[in-house]
Amino acid sequence: MDTSQLDRRSVLKFGALALAGTAMPLAQPTSQTVSAQNEIKTLPKPNVAENRIIRKVAGLRPFRPSGFVVKAETLGDKTVIHNYGHGGCGVTLSWGTADMAATLARETTKRDAAVIGCGAVGLATARLLQDQGFQVTIYAKELPPNTTSNVAAAMFGVTSLVDDAHHSDKKIVEDIQYAVRFAHRYFQNFVGTKYGVHWNEMFLLGDDPPEQPWDFAITPELYPLTIYQPGEHPFPTKYAASFPTMMIETLNYLPQVISDFIQRGGKLVVQNFSDAAALSKLPESLIMNCTGLGARELFGDTELVPVKGQLTLLLPQPEVTYAYLDGRRDLYMFPRSDTIILGGSHQEGVDTTTPDEKIAEGIFEGHKEIAAKMK
Ligand SMILES: Cc1cc2nc3c(=O)[nH]c(=O)nc-3n(C[C@H](O)[C@H](O)[C@H](O)COP(=O)(O)OP(=O)(O)OC[C@H]3O[C@@H](n4cnc5c(N)ncnc54)[C@H](O)[C@@H]3O)c2cc1C
Repeated sequence: MDTSQLDRRSVLKFGALALAGTAMPLAQPTSQTVSAQNEIKTLPKPNVAENRIIRKVAGLRPFRPSGFVVKAETLGDKTVIHNYGHGGCGVTLSWGTADMAATLARETTKRDAAVIGCGAVGLATARLLQDQGFQVTIYAKELPPNTTSNVAAAMFGVTSLVDDAHHSDKKIVEDIQYAVRFAHRYFQNFVGTKYGVHWNEMFLLGDDPPEQPWDFAITPELYPLTIYQPGEHPFPTKYAASFPTMMIETLNYLPQVISDFIQRGGKLVVQNFSDAAALSKLPESLIMNCTGLGARELFGDTELVPVKGQLTLLLPQPEVTYAYLDGRRDLYMFPRSDTIILGGSHQEGVDTTTPDEKIAEGIFEGHKEIAAKMK
């Protein structure tokens, strides 16, 4: 593949390079794309030094080439509503697909629900059902802080959700548009220190004039880009573009949503289900399957593939209040109150959460170079 084309499609593409199939042309810049009014001369740099590393972590994104599954099916005398397969943006989409799943739940006559899974998706689903009058018990083999949702960085943005071959599927696109718009509005209810959700500016770095990647162009109003021309920004790439987005600090956010769930009468049971048959023993006749990658074994969904992602966590720097992504190199930096997150990697089909030292070295050296060359 010719390199200029590779750069062009991946520059703003949230490290989806490892997942990309055939190339799709990027959408043209939209009316939301505006020129910078003011250049940014300098920004506080992340201090990328060995003695600031807290830990290295890895997690498995529950990726399906055709995107998330929200659908109802019958299991013996029970109704199962699936809500899983959110790839690299399950925290982002959680309230959106929870709303879609809750709509299916309301169409049944049942009002007692078992939610299987206690990550971002299970929790949002459980809370929306409670708000709609359901009695809910969450069953999960692992609770926060031990879910994939805790590993998530987590920035609000659709990324690594479907492969290129599914970009033209009208139903898939409409479902994503619905879910991301609902979630974007819903997450605004949580902005503040209590839930650890806050706005910051995300910079997309590249050497070609920035354009909206497909994932953003389908809901461009959520990502109003400001373009910085060469010389108008402090990053070591020719161009930068930025948009305001929400950071969801899962360390705060997930326990707070659990607390809301318990306060509203929800019950939490730690339980592992070895297969779908084990679910038939549950007292509830409505089962919400929010097991993320767990749905691969539990329901035999062979389309689910783990996409390993690795992060290096540095000591926090309160003065760093922006994020950046160099999609061409799959390098991103997200600031949180407890840490500076350095990513990333996308390893499709890799099924272990043990951090890889070589990848950690690439992440560290890449960010060190960006910081050293920043103004
Ligand atoms: C490095 C990395 C960075 C990421 N960055 C972002 C980001 O910036 N923004 C974003 O939105 N997303 C991000 N993601 C993706 C996000 O983490 C996932 O999409 C999301 O966590 C999926 O949520 P979930 O609730 O479906 O699954 P999980 O969080 O995995 O929760 C699944 C739940 O189901 C339970 N379960 C599974 N199987 C069973 C079983 N058999 N019996 C009982 N319980 C079971 C688990 O114990 C757990 O409680 C990132 C992921 C990684 C790895």
